[in-house]
Amino acid sequence: MRDLALLPKAHLHLHFTGSMRVTTLADLAAQHNVRLPEALVDADPLRLPATERGWFRFQRLYDAARACVRSEADMRRLVDEAAADDAAEGSGRLEIQVDPTSYAPFVGGITPAVEIVLDAARVASAAHGIEVAVVVAASRMRHPLDARTLARLAARYAGEGPGEVIGFGLSNDERRGDTAEFGPAFDIARRAGLAAVPHGGELLGPDHVREVLRELVPDRLGHGVRSAEDPHVLEEIVERGVALEVNPASNVGLGVYHESSELPLRTLVAAGAQVALGADDPLLFGSRLVAQYEMARTVHGFSDGELAALARSSVRASRASARTKSQLLAGVDAWLAQPDPAEPVIRSEMDNPVTVG
Ligand SMILES: [Zn+2]
Repeated sequence: MRDLALLPKAHLHLHFTGSMRVTTLADLAAQHNVRLPEALVDADPLRLPATERGWFRFQRLYDAARACVRSEADMRRLVDEAAADDAAEGSGRLEIQVDPTSYAPFVGGITPAVEIVLDAARVASAAHGIEVAVVVAASRMRHPLDARTLARLAARYAGEGPGEVIGFGLSNDERRGDTAEFGPAFDIARRAGLAAVPHGGELLGPDHVREVLRELVPDRLGHGVRSAEDPHVLEEIVERGVALEVNPASNVGLGVYHESSELPLRTLVAAGAQVALGADDPLLFGSRLVAQYEMARTVHGFSDGELAALARSSVRASRASARTKSQLLAGVDAWLAQPDPAEPVIRSEMDNPVTVG
């Protein structure tokens, strides 16, 4: 039972607005005179059915939170706090996901919006001892041509280090939009060396995963948990080396599974899938990164060795440099090499002779 906050790991699935602390949201709402829905500030994790209505409510709350982020200073604050919170939980590498479109009107366009996030990521990396890189994400709710524009913009900042764009994503309601129409945007991103990291296989099942694999050729899949429902799809994911960004609290929050125990984490890992645990939207689902590892331990019975393997998986699936990866992996080994505080230290009698009088 080693301390999971000390386990070095990479965080590959965290949304910019969704990373916000509840206290920060309340603060920004007061500053900008925005009235917030009670559900956003009551600090209760969201629990919604995985239906159109459930998703609609999630989206409405998400939009309300996003409406509080209205300036460069707000954007910088979010990145800084996300980095600080991640670093405090043992994350050495955060790949934060942002769709710049919503913030563009406040800062003079999508290009400045992306540049602010990238610069804030660089500053936060130096301040908190963590690498913060960025995934630019398009939305399924917008036209596929908008996605291409974003992909071209993301390509200009492609790299692997702090404050660089490492991937291109596609988020929002999986049931919207024609997946194939977003293919060209992912081609642009791939040609620039960016990782393809679309969402898929959370609200929709294995057929959707198959479609995303075929049309968008992902390096990693946001969620992808429902590929566990079809052994062939799961096998394809393993064979193609597509990593799964698994977000347990999000799956339960959106009613994909009623209880964390229903999450097929063991099935995915046993099949050989590369799993990276993530928090998705802590603001709405009420828990951050370490809580996802704790859930693997307490609900799914993962041993410290298995938790270390999950952490290694997250590091390997990241786009960090080889040097950063090997540093983090060495940290994982060191964490596991520490004696387990829960196990009593057994000494031999020879070491500790008892004198009988
Ligand atoms: Zn997500």
